[in-house]
Amino acid sequence: MNTLLSGAGVHSGNCEIMTNITAPALQFDQVSKYFGEVRAVDQADLDIRDGEFFSMLGPSGSGKTTCLRMIAGFERPTSGRILLHGQDVSSLPPYERNVNTVFQDYALFPHMNVEENIAYGLMVKQVPKAERLKRVEEMLELVRLAGFAKRKPSQLSGGQRQRVALARALINHPKVLLLDEPLGALDLKLRQQMQVELKALQQRVGITFIFVTHDQEEALTMSDRIALFNLGRIEQTGTPAEIYEHPATSFVAGFVGTSNLVTGDVAKRITGQEIIFSIRPEKIHLADLEAGVPQDSHSVDGVVRDVVYLGLYTRYLVELEGGGDLVVVEQNLKTTSMDVLKVKGKKVRLHWKKEHVREVGN
Ligand code: ATP
Repeated sequence: MNTLLSGAGVHSGNCEIMTNITAPALQFDQVSKYFGEVRAVDQADLDIRDGEFFSMLGPSGSGKTTCLRMIAGFERPTSGRILLHGQDVSSLPPYERNVNTVFQDYALFPHMNVEENIAYGLMVKQVPKAERLKRVEEMLELVRLAGFAKRKPSQLSGGQRQRVALARALINHPKVLLLDEPLGALDLKLRQQMQVELKALQQRVGITFIFVTHDQEEALTMSDRIALFNLGRIEQTGTPAEIYEHPATSFVAGFVGTSNLVTGDVAKRITGQEIIFSIRPEKIHLADLEAGVPQDSHSVDGVVRDVVYLGLYTRYLVELEGGGDLVVVEQNLKTTSMDVLKVKGKKVRLHWKKEHVREVGN
């Protein structure tokens, strides 16, 4: 049996903390953080369940890392409270919190081998050598690095170094693991592979993972839920499907996936109402002008101004009659690059089911 699963007894640094098992793993209660005049985090509320894979997603400078650093205890909130398993930790130092962090650059000790790097936290806690070796072996097994114990970090690939950093963070049995863009240094293929591995690992150990990323695809792939940050505020919290299918604001619609935001006169002409709405490019059908429009659908005519053939699918930019444009994406199920390029300059009718329209706030 995996010892991590039996690690319900709570250790943290040198002290024992009583935790409330039924409470959420992490709560933010109106947390704000100012650096001088800079408002890095603005009245954030969060509720992260025990065992959740939770991502903080947002553009650069939106406050994600500051939130993570406050959870770890490296920064203190200017106002508000942070609770870990029901305990207010807002003013506790990092070593008294039962959390561990994996950084983007892994922060491995270059002069130590893999085994020594992973055992470091246990050495600090003066865990006896036999116990240390046993737990390192379990960790190596867990991250699929058995046989690499004596290698130095410089003798490992990027993905292997990443796994050592994970093992080193997990060996202390943290209740919550914080991951700050841990896959950012890897190339695309390896990153995609590690996304799958990391998610599988999290499910195996059952620890709450709080994952910071600016990569929306990564967040959608891995997370149980996502909080989307913008200018220090949380714009929306939800499952990947909720965030993608029901964006709460125009910022969310624009940041997650590609979305057409339709406003003003164009929106009114299409829907008959004064609303702002988003429609995903893959929900729009591109048809001939003679084509009928299915029931319960919106339609608008336009001219195809641009066609980009992308192998799996084609992206069209359609200039609408009366102004504005829409991006349409269609899979190349039957079409070839020659077919789709012929469409450029043609008049077309666009239509989509009303149920795919999302009215969004500003
Ligand atoms: P990135 O994806 O680029 O890491 P982020 O979303 O993690 O960005 P933060 O690093 O949390 O954003 O920064 C939020 C805001 O706070 C930014 O405007 C940043 O410049 C500012 N900030 C962060 N740390 C400090 C600091 N120590 N002193 C002053 N300003 C800071």
